[in-house]
Amino acid sequence: MTEDDLLHAETYRDRVSTVTDKGDRKWVYATKPSGKWYNYRTYVSYFYLAIFFVIPFIKVNGMPFMMINLLEGKFILFSKIFWPQDFFIFAIGMITFIIFIVLFTVVFGRLFCGWVCPQTVFLEFVFRPIEWLVEGSPAQQKKLNEGDFTLEYAAKKTTKHLIFLAISFLIANTFLAYIRGLDEVVKIVKEPIVEHLGLLIGMAIFTLLFYGVFAFVRDLVCTTICPYGRLQGVMFDKDTMQISYDYKRGEPRGKLHKNAVRTEGDCINCMKCVTVCPTGIDIRDGLQMECVGCTACIDSCNEVMAAIHKPKGLIRYASENEITTGEKFHFNTRMKAYTGLLLVLMVFMAVLIFTRKTVDTYISRVKGQLYQEVEGNKISNLFDAKIINKTREEIPVTLKLEDMPGQIRVIGGHQIVLKKEAVNEFTFFLDIPKEAVKTRSASIKIGVYQGNEKIQTVKTKFLGPFK
Ligand code: SF4
Ligand code: SF4
Repeated sequence: MTEDDLLHAETYRDRVSTVTDKGDRKWVYATKPSGKWYNYRTYVSYFYLAIFFVIPFIKVNGMPFMMINLLEGKFILFSKIFWPQDFFIFAIGMITFIIFIVLFTVVFGRLFCGWVCPQTVFLEFVFRPIEWLVEGSPAQQKKLNEGDFTLEYAAKKTTKHLIFLAISFLIANTFLAYIRGLDEVVKIVKEPIVEHLGLLIGMAIFTLLFYGVFAFVRDLVCTTICPYGRLQGVMFDKDTMQISYDYKRGEPRGKLHKNAVRTEGDCINCMKCVTVCPTGIDIRDGLQMECVGCTACIDSCNEVMAAIHKPKGLIRYASENEITTGEKFHFNTRMKAYTGLLLVLMVFMAVLIFTRKTVDTYISRVKGQLYQEVEGNKISNLFDAKIINKTREEIPVTLKLEDMPGQIRVIGGHQIVLKKEAVNEFTFFLDIPKEAVKTRSASIKIGVYQGNEKIQTVKTKFLGPFK
């Protein structure tokens, strides 16, 4: 080991690799990876980006495929509208998603971070390639940054940052389309700016936020800001698949000497796995929180191994057990438990989504009102009704008292036509013949009918005189 290696071996756990001993930030100039894994990630990322930008354009029966309108509490998934009343489905969905991520982390480490996290996908497959294109290789970028302010510097920096801003604006618009729907975004673009000043300010803030993250914050999101990244440690075990350096094969590392019998391990200390790392770490130091599992070091090392005629896989996907004992990956009890839980939650989610009502009715007696005796020897109670129509069509409905005689009189006498995508509120009297009211507080059922089809039954209480 060189003196530098020895110093590094003693200090690398004291601070994150992208911070100098004085506490300043060390900018990561990652080289462009190439190889099998990078190709796979490129396909996945392009597919991911295509989906991200196309989804807001997809409509089924005039309904957006996906919309998450937090401001109005309206959510559309698979072109089905979900209201705050369906919130539990979202809660279950979120729990399922978290279990999914946890399971994946337990089994495959930071596969999510390296392959499908938006931060990684946008940074590594949109922003960084633009940077390589405009400013050149990492070495050229470094030279540019450390050099004097020249015309070339100004031109390159201006071009890069203008493109970054334009893409951030596009991402912000796409996010807005996910939140408000594409129609709304088109409307905002067509109508005078002053009518949508609030949204415009929001859009500007989001544009600057994305720009700031991808132009400046970058790897710090993964290494210090993202809570998921910081939670990894508690989810990993010795069977977790991760990007691992096979130290048994690689150590002691040492430079390649031409025409000399090699006594060291397979690592020739070329540092290619380090220079390609987007978080600036040395995977040979072992598993580190900063590793986002991007596989770039696998590709780089494989290239080196091929060049020196050694087997590939000095850095590879492997569990700690596999590296230390040679034991092959196996699905342990914890993984089985998580998988079981995940399957149960997914089935439960599917049942909730497919059995979800499109009309939701809530009926309760008007507070503070007692019963009234009305003409025809009847007892009458006043009720408030709230019917949520989650569909995109108006629905005419009627209410009927079930299993006992009685008549419903809607105040205003109008036919109930539920407005589309709206909460419809109205009040009605329920008159029941005196002889049928047997208790002070009777449980009754009211059916909601669309034509002759009963779409819901609601239970409530009817108040009568003491007997
Ligand atoms: S790329 Fe491979 S050979 Fe080169 S330093 Fe990294 S582990 Fe060693
Ligand atoms: S150590 Fe390897 S897998 Fe981990 S972030 Fe760096 S290059 Fe990617």
